[in-house]
Amino acid sequence: MPDTDVIVIGAGLAGLVAATEAVAAGKRVVVLDQESRENLGGQAFWSLGGLFLVDTPEQRRMGIKDSHALAWSDWKDSAGWDRLGGSGGGAGGAGGLASGVGEDHWGKQWARAYVDFAAGEMRGWLTDLDVKIFPVVGWAERGGGAAGGHGNSVPRFHVTWGTGPGLCEPFVRLAKEAEVAGRLRYAFRHRVDDLVLTAGVVSGVRGTRLAPTHLPRGVATSREPVGEFELSAGAVIVASGGIGGNLDLVRSAWPERLGPAPRDAVAGVPAHVDGRMWGITARAGGRIVNRDRMWHYVEGVRNWDPVWPQHGIRILPGPSSIWLDGAGNRLPAPLFPGFDTLGTLEHLRRTGFEHSWFILNQRIIEKEFVLSGSEQNLDLTNKSVRDVLGRARAAVPPSVQAFLDRGEDFVVAPTLRELVAGMNELTPEAPLDAERIERMLRTRDLQVENEFGKDLQIMAIRAARAFRGDRLIRTVAPHALLDPAAGPLIAVRLSILTRKTLGGVQTDLSGRVLRADGTALPALYAAGEVAGFGGGGVHGYRALEGTFLGGCLYSGRVAGRSAAAALG
Ligand SMILES: Cc1cc2nc3c(=O)[nH]c(=O)nc-3n(C[C@H](O)[C@H](O)[C@H](O)COP(=O)(O)OP(=O)(O)OC[C@H]3O[C@@H](n4cnc5c(N)ncnc54)[C@H](O)[C@@H]3O)c2cc1C
Repeated sequence: MPDTDVIVIGAGLAGLVAATEAVAAGKRVVVLDQESRENLGGQAFWSLGGLFLVDTPEQRRMGIKDSHALAWSDWKDSAGWDRLGGSGGGAGGAGGLASGVGEDHWGKQWARAYVDFAAGEMRGWLTDLDVKIFPVVGWAERGGGAAGGHGNSVPRFHVTWGTGPGLCEPFVRLAKEAEVAGRLRYAFRHRVDDLVLTAGVVSGVRGTRLAPTHLPRGVATSREPVGEFELSAGAVIVASGGIGGNLDLVRSAWPERLGPAPRDAVAGVPAHVDGRMWGITARAGGRIVNRDRMWHYVEGVRNWDPVWPQHGIRILPGPSSIWLDGAGNRLPAPLFPGFDTLGTLEHLRRTGFEHSWFILNQRIIEKEFVLSGSEQNLDLTNKSVRDVLGRARAAVPPSVQAFLDRGEDFVVAPTLRELVAGMNELTPEAPLDAERIERMLRTRDLQVENEFGKDLQIMAIRAARAFRGDRLIRTVAPHALLDPAAGPLIAVRLSILTRKTLGGVQTDLSGRVLRADGTALPALYAAGEVAGFGGGGVHGYRALEGTFLGGCLYSGRVAGRSAAAALG
């Protein structure tokens, strides 16, 4: 008789969803996490709570015509799956033994299943769980500028009312109820080091008990061992997150196609996103695929008030800032702020600089800078209608103002000469020529004097403002950047910020972990980021945003239900 029916490794969103689904199906569950209870919800708690949903009442109210067909078309054109056939390790370089299926075989099927879910059951399921959606839909990842290329054709980034904590809330509550009822037990500060196999079947886990701690959420905790543990179960679900907090692992998995790996990246995730379970799952026989696919941002700034090591915050930019590389060259179209994350990353990695620059002004920052993260958006996180309405007023949000006042990457100046002098103080190794930048900006500013013009970024700003949501709270009217009435001028030094892992443990549509030969590793399941959000790579090469939390919800639900069903 095993110690419990189901073990879930990881108390992040995917683990919580899997655990509560297994409990709902009548199973006894133990949730293990290397962190303390303070970190319940994992990364999702820090998140903005943005969800990829399709053809919703929120979209329709804003005049957006979305459909399953359009979403699927966007998804597959962004994904660019090219590892569908059976081969060896594949370009992801991870499979090891020859396999009957390609690295993308299951990821593509998971993508289709997720789009079905996002266009169908997902919103109703969340509503039943009392999750509410903010009425203004966002337009993330507008893409590479071609109908058949990467990007969202329409706004479909739905922010959860209450952001990440609001999305975690129902699952934390259900888990609490199960805990009180004796159906679910948490084992915090339990780090899994091995999956136990009995006659080829996964029968439990073993690992290290870590020294107790009550450090605040997100702070890196000690790895001091105080003992060992072993626990048996009828099924084990791995929901341990990605690799983004382990910069060495990120660098070693970095693909050549994105240029050289960054030396000075900031971390967009806590240190517990350490990627250890990839190796542990592989040792037990699970197949890791697409490990070279990742989703890192190019608009990272160092947090003036860091919680975790090298803590970076991502700017979710509106389209108006001028983007310069480290040498002061304007980025080519369509690499505008908020358009094509990976295209921009690849471009910047080939410039030879670790940083790039936004140049903007006070008018732009007031409306166009949103900082990613629940703690950076307290109006939404605290569900304050009054404060949220303030977003439509011209004022810098308090969290952005704090960066202007204290962030080491921000320069504010009344004139361009002084601005560039401030920029050069930050990067003396790559001094910029103020005259050249002034010529560039004056030429650009000439383009806003007419309703028409030839500057593609200004056209993109006008297109964005055709969408009511952008016009209301995200995009300023085209205006001369150097207009003193729109000042002062602002420059922001941007770094690469590590965040999401797109590859991972290969799973079938039931969430069962697969071996290199394509067969299931009995009694082992995976969900969330560790599984590339399903199948070992639901996104292919590129993501449409909101698909990470969405992927945790969907893959966690599938794994929890499947594991419970298999136990009978
Ligand atoms: C600031 C921020 C903003 C974001 N915004 C969005 C957004 O708006 N929309 C979106 O879709 N996505 C967003 N994301 C991404 C999304 O939050 C994550 O991809 C997702 O929450 C990952 O959830 P998970 O459950 O798979 O893993 P995690 O949340 O990483 O949880 C995994 C847990 O497993 C534990 N663990 C790991 N290894 C072991 C082990 N060996 N033994 C025991 N325990 C272990 C970890 O301690 C951790 O608690 C954001 C992320 C961040 C950080």
